[in-house]
This record gives sequence, C-alpha cells and structure tokens, in this order.
Amino acid sequence: MAQQTVADVVVVGGGVAGLCAAIAAHDAGAKTVLLEASELLGGTASWSGGAIWIPMNHCMRRAGRPDSRAAALAYMQACAQGKTAPELLDTYLDEGPAVLEFLERATPLEFEVGTMPDYYDQYPGAVHRPGESRSVAPAIFDTHRLGDRRTLLRRSPYGTIPFSFEEFSRFQAILHPERIDFALMKQRLDAGYVGWGEALSAGLLAAVLERGVDVRVSSRVRSLLIEGGVRGVRVDGAGSSYELAARHGVVLCTGGFEWDPELVEEQFGVHWTPSTVETNRGDGWHMAEQAGAQLTNRGVCWGWPTYMIPGEKRTGGLPLVRTSLVERGLPHSIIVDRRGERFVDESAPYHRILKVLLEREAQGFRHLPAWQVLDQQFLDKYPFGPVMAGQPAPEWLHRFESLPQLAAGLGIDAAALARTVREFNEAAVLGRDARFGRGESAYARFFADPDNSPNPSLGPLSQAPFYAIEVLPSTIGTCAGPRIDTRGRVLAGDGQPVPGLFAAGNAAAAISGPAYFGPGGTIGPAMVFGVLAGRTAAKGTPHG
Ligand SMILES: Cc1cc2nc3c(=O)[nH]c(=O)nc-3n(C[C@H](O)[C@H](O)[C@H](O)COP(=O)(O)OP(=O)(O)OC[C@H]3O[C@@H](n4cnc5c(N)ncnc54)[C@H](O)[C@@H]3O)c2cc1C
Repeated sequence: MAQQTVADVVVVGGGVAGLCAAIAAHDAGAKTVLLEASELLGGTASWSGGAIWIPMNHCMRRAGRPDSRAAALAYMQACAQGKTAPELLDTYLDEGPAVLEFLERATPLEFEVGTMPDYYDQYPGAVHRPGESRSVAPAIFDTHRLGDRRTLLRRSPYGTIPFSFEEFSRFQAILHPERIDFALMKQRLDAGYVGWGEALSAGLLAAVLERGVDVRVSSRVRSLLIEGGVRGVRVDGAGSSYELAARHGVVLCTGGFEWDPELVEEQFGVHWTPSTVETNRGDGWHMAEQAGAQLTNRGVCWGWPTYMIPGEKRTGGLPLVRTSLVERGLPHSIIVDRRGERFVDESAPYHRILKVLLEREAQGFRHLPAWQVLDQQFLDKYPFGPVMAGQPAPEWLHRFESLPQLAAGLGIDAAALARTVREFNEAAVLGRDARFGRGESAYARFFADPDNSPNPSLGPLSQAPFYAIEVLPSTIGTCAGPRIDTRGRVLAGDGQPVPGLFAAGNAAAAISGPAYFGPGGTIGPAMVFGVLAGRTAAKGTPHG
C-alpha cells in the first residue's frame, strides 16, 4: 500500500464536528487533510434544524438575555446525573461561548438567538421562560459562496427551508405552514439560499474550502496507523487504497455507529432506520478500540419517535424517516401501545419519548408496536407531516369509522383503548393530564396550540373517522464512544491520552452522558470539542 503525502492533522469525517476541527487545526497552523467517506460534506447536520445549544453565548447577550454560569452548570449537572466527567461540563461553559464567537469570525456564518426552551425544565437552572433559549441557529446562507464546489454540499432530504429558525418561528410556521411567505420562499430558493442545518453545513464548508484545506471525498478511513501512538490512517479512496501519515494527530469525527448492525444489536437490541447519513458505520468506534481507547456511555443515543410514509425515499433508496416533532403533542391525539394504554407524556421532548419507547420487558419492547391515534378534528385543525390542516386525509394514515374498529384493525386491546380514550377526554375537558402532565412543560407549550384551552396540548378524541400511524423509534446519532478529555484527546483504559488520537461529535462519548440538554444539544458539543480537538492536535506535541 503506497504511503501518500504527510499531513500535520488528519480529520476523519466531514460532518459538523469534522468541519469545525479542520477549520481550527488549519487556523492553528497545521497542514490539514479532511477525509470524508461519502461524496458529500456536511454530514447529518445538513438534515438538521441547525440549532446549537451553548449557554452564555454572545447572541443571548446581544439580545439582552443574560445567562449565568452557576445556573447553566447546575442544569448541566442535573442532566448528566454524574455520568460524565465534571471538567467536561466546566470546559463547555468556559470555552463554548468563545468557540461560537470564533466560528462566527472564522466562517461566513451568522448566528441568531433561538426561542426554544431547555429540555428538562424541572431541573435547576433551566431556561424555560417563553421566548428564551440557550440555543442559536444560523441565518440563511447564499450557496453561491461555495462557487462551483456547491455540489459538494449535502442537501436535506426534507427539502430546503430558505428561512432562519427565527423567521420560521415568526411565521408560526411549525403549527401553521400555510402562513409561510411562499413568494419570498421561491425568491430565495431561486437565488440559491439555504437555511437551518444546510446553512450551517454550507457556512462551515465555505470556510474549509476558502482556507484551501485538502478535502478528499469518497475517502473512507478503515484503520489507524499505530506505532508508539497514532501516526496516520489507512484510506480506501476512490479507486485506490493508501496510507496517510499524520505528524501531529488524527481527529475522529466519524459520527455515531447507528448504521453498524452488530454494535446496534449489542447496545440497543433494536431494528431501526436511523435518521442519519448511512455512512455512519461505526468506523470511529472500531478505530478507537484498535487504539486501546476507553469506550463508554454505551447504550445511549440521541433519538426520537418517528413515522414513515410508505414509498417515501431519501437519496440512495433508503426509506425517509419523518420525526413526529409537533404532531404527537397536539390536541385530539394520543399514543398508545398494543395494550391500549398511553405510556408517556406525548408532548415531552423527543429524546425522553425515545427512552420510553425502548423500555424492555421479558418478551421484547414493552410499548412496541406503538400507535399515534387521532381524530378528524386533528386533521381539520393541524398539519400532519406534509399534509396541511383541512386537507383530505392521506391514504397512508390508517382510517377507521370507530375506535373498536381501529383496535381490531391494529391488534390493540379494544376495552383498554376505550377506557384510555374516555380518561383522556375527561382530562382534556379539565385541562389536566393527571397521569403524565401532558402540555405542562415549556417544551410542550412551545409546540402545542396556544389557541386551544384550557390546555394547549389536550383535546378530546371524539369525532370519527379515527386515524392511526405507527410510531417508530429512530436515532439521530449514537452517544457512546471513546472517552475524551477537555482538549478532545481520546483517553486510554489507564486514563492517559492515546498519543495522536482525538475525537469529537457523535464519534466521541457524549459530554452530556444520558441527557439531551436542549435544542442544539448534539451540534453544540460537536462544534466546541471539534474546535478544541483540532487546535490541540495542531500543536503537535504527541510525537515530539
Ligand atoms: C432531521 C434531523 C434534525 C436534527 N436537528 C438537530 C438540531 O437542530 N440540533 C442538534 O444539535 N442536533 C440535531 N440533529 C442531530 C445532529 O444533526 C447530529 O447529531 C450531528 O450533526 C452529528 O455531527 P457529527 O459531525 O458528529 O456526525 P455526522 O454529521 O453524522 O458526520 C459524520 C461524517 O463522518 C463520515 N464518516 C463516517 N465514517 C467515516 C470514515 N470511516 N471515513 C471518513 N468519513 C467517515 C460520514 O460520512 C459523515 O459525513 C438532527 C438530526 C436529524 C437527522
């Protein structure tokens, strides 16, 4: 195998963590090579909302919404439940805001303060007053800035939203997509603008390309070169395999291992269709293992309840997974299992619903299969995926004239379902879900219907026909991986850094342990530790 060129820093993976690591390594003076297995750059972030959760950030300050370190730390500690190293949380608070400012200076990106609350408003230090948020998101981005390399940008299978999250919220477009300014939308699409996660990826990619970083797509790294530390990588490039030496370090930014069936079976025991790019095949996990890393946070993933529309595909022919972001917490709808029981606050943050969906019992998963059941009032008032309020019911929703027929058709306990719906309807009239507290959290109120009273998330299921769709667990990235220190260095079994090896993003064990801090809780740490790892790798101390 030919040894080709020598870099100072090799970044493996061109998602948000890898792009940030490459920018930082380059700016710290390192000759940097970025290797990406697929043909496209941006990774899963291109499909994302582009939200970035970083407490005490400059956009909050600019908007006159100060945050406090003590409050943010108390909140993060409560979320992490002692399952992550305290110094990682300190580093996130002490360096995260500066990293975000660095990225705004070093890239063409502009960030705007968000409006979504933290995901656990019961914890001390949570930000949950209406309109307040610790997250930021990118402004819209003109893809012409990428020149003829625009084709390298991964695009969203959900379609381009050429609005910032802030503009989208102003239209109230989550609940009322019909209020979008469609003329402006067309104008911006024609002009090449992107928003949300596509804007984030595009801005980071522009910065990488404008720096002249050596970017190689269709280049899958299969293993590390190890000799008294990590010395480089073996690459399956387009048409040839070669070795690439890294004088100072290799930064693993390969995303999670959600498309590695064996690791998924071992840690989650579930068959799912991940919501992420299918090139996240666990290579980072296996390379970290090869280098003797401590692999931790096992069995934890970011994820959510989803549904699929038969026949809908993303590029490559895989089924398109649609998150049930807003639908599940709106009035006139519940989620039940085959016992006919509700089992969760349907309006809770998605990450917490996934945990309940994956609860096990002797025979398998306690609540799977699960179904979202809704009535005609729902479809008259609210959007469901691509279907706008008031449009005819789509054929992909199972339709039944009565609840007993629905129960019989889907194999649900009919008597229990009747009781569940009766109790839910009583709770809806009272405006209080005594069992699960639906509609009470700040998160629920963000997505629910403010015009529905007495509770914005509760409305009876009483008007036939009734509809159902299966609720499927899916992941937006696994959170298990090599333990890292405050500089993004991978730690070995003895707690010492593996010389020359770094990790960031979903390739590393999540700094939040079992939790999802808030909107942007995955991308925020990926950016911050991507930058810190890139900078540290560039310093080049490991091999002298
Ligand atoms: C619809 C959707 C919405 C989301 N919204 C948000 C949000 O608003 N905020 C938020 O925080 N999170 C969000 N997420 C999650 C977030 O997008 C991901 O957690 C994050 O982008 C992961 O970044 P990453 O760089 O670690 O990995 P990825 O983006 O998954 O990138 C990993 C890259 O590494 C490449 N790679 C893998 N193996 C190799 C190899 N061996 N050699 C070379 N390259 C390799 C892959 O091809 C990929 O490009 C969302 C996810 C989805 C699906």
